[in-house]
Amino acid sequence: MSGEKIGIMGGTFDPVHYGHLFAAEQARVVLSLGMVVFVPSGTPPHKSYPMMASAEDRYAMTELAIRGNDHFAISRAETDRPEASYTADTLEYFRRENPGAELFLITGADAALDIPNWHEPDRILSLCRVAVAARPGYVRDKITELSEAAGDSLIVLDTGLIDVSATEIRELAAGNGSIRYMTPDSVCRYIAEKKLYSCTGA
Ligand code: ATP
Ligand code: MG
Repeated sequence: MSGEKIGIMGGTFDPVHYGHLFAAEQARVVLSLGMVVFVPSGTPPHKSYPMMASAEDRYAMTELAIRGNDHFAISRAETDRPEASYTADTLEYFRRENPGAELFLITGADAALDIPNWHEPDRILSLCRVAVAARPGYVRDKITELSEAAGDSLIVLDTGLIDVSATEIRELAAGNGSIRYMTPDSVCRYIAEKKLYSCTGA
């Protein structure tokens, strides 16, 4: 649809949590996005860490988490790919599917600072603008520096911080800690039922 603004929220989502949902919702409102599409990554050829949940489980948890928000959607663009996806290719896919739409890549501060090291960063910035959500532990000065260098293509979202990470959730789940209130109850239940993260996989 021409003129539409679409947010793309990529991630491993292992599992999805309130930090992701909050960043997506803030970006949606601040940038007047018509929708935010969550794009869970596929399974890399070599698992990055032993407890990593399958692409299918990560997709299912993300789908559960966004239920009830009519402005949130989910895409299998990266889920079904056997090889690791490049963000530039994913953005190009959304550009093809939505000609005329304006694309915004929503990231946390850690990911935004890493973009210069990603595959073809210039192509990424030619396809979208990047909306950066603050994240605890990341100095705002650094983001401001990056945004000055990137000019218009980077937008810093001046929102509150949600101090939660998927790593923390996996570690808590592995140690039988409570992950309630870090991610929606539906995701907590999925993790418990499927016994995700409950052993080190060693
Ligand atoms: P992990 O601990 O496994 O790296 P994560 O919590 O960082 O997981 P990812 O799936 O790696 O989650 O992140 C996807 C995107 O969401 C990234 O752009 C990341 O910066 C952003 N993000 C993750 N957690 C937060 C948070 N608490 N606040 C703002 N952005 C976040
Ligand atoms: Mg991360």
